[in-house]
Amino acid sequence: MRIVLLGPPGSGKGTQAIRLAKQLGIPQLSTGDMLRAAVSAGTSIGAKAKAIMERGELVPDELVVAIVAERISRPDAKYGFILDGFPRTIVQAAALDDILRAAGLRLDSVLELDVDEAALLGRILNRAKDATANGHARADDTEAALRVRLEEYGRQTKPLADYYREQGILKSVDGLQPIDKVASSLLEAIHTQGEGVRYAASSSP
Ligand code: ADP
Repeated sequence: MRIVLLGPPGSGKGTQAIRLAKQLGIPQLSTGDMLRAAVSAGTSIGAKAKAIMERGELVPDELVVAIVAERISRPDAKYGFILDGFPRTIVQAAALDDILRAAGLRLDSVLELDVDEAALLGRILNRAKDATANGHARADDTEAALRVRLEEYGRQTKPLADYYREQGILKSVDGLQPIDKVASSLLEAIHTQGEGVRYAASSSP
């Protein structure tokens, strides 16, 4: 199963991607994690990405597409994967379609976490405070970078919902439910044919 998880910063996308990957037995591929690993390892990609990420801006498409192309060609991704944080632009989405098409593959589902964006800044700043207290602070969890990340999401990533809606594979899930309910709604969305439905736990039988 090849799945893309879409959602703004602070929507719980990372948490859900990890859970879903475990349940489905496929790897969770987070471009944010991959880029942070490159920054820590001091690779040339990391050197290019570091300052951009700290500002909350998007790393150039060609760089991220190359990382993902390499990662999904590995054996553990042969039978599927959950992409978390990619694609983030229409250019990236089109590149992913091309890569998959060349291998005779396609995406099965694109799951969008639907959340009230006005609530996100507060939520994510709280998370940043907790992370700082635990010594796991991210360099881009400052208020300034967060504002840029949210703005980039709205401008560059949100249009992907329409892109995938046109392909007939977009499914929207109410991301403001409790974590377990979001998880069950995502599973329900994956296993249900059809689109245009907003999945919430209360709608399950
Ligand atoms: P969040 O969803 O909380 O913003 P991520 O860990 O997904 O966090 O991403 C962190 C940063 O990594 C982004 O702000 C961006 O700079 C960079 N990044 C991650 N994925 C991509 C991508 N697909 N395209 C461009 N930049 C990316």
